[in-house]
Amino acid sequence: MDCEKAIHQVYSYLDGELTVWKRMAIARHLDDCPPCLQGFAFEVELRRVIVSKCSEEVPETLRIRIAEVLGFGEIDPFLP
Ligand SMILES: [Zn+2]
Repeated sequence: MDCEKAIHQVYSYLDGELTVWKRMAIARHLDDCPPCLQGFAFEVELRRVIVSKCSEEVPETLRIRIAEVLGFGEIDPFLP
C-alpha cells in the first residue's frame, strides 16, 4: 500500500467503514511509515477534540457573548 492510498483510507478507517483486512493493511503501513503515522495521529486527536467539544454544554452567557461578537446581539433595526 502506498502513502496516498493509506492516507485516503485513514478516514474510512476512523469511521469504522473498512474490513478487518484493510484495517490491518493500514496499520501495517502506519507501522512502517512515520509520516503517515503522524497524519493518522493528528486525525485521531482532531476527532477526539471535536467529540469532546460537541458533548460539552455551552453556557448561556457564552452563547450570548458569541452572538454579540458575531454581531447578532446588538442590532437595532430602528436605527438609521
Ligand atoms: Zn506512508
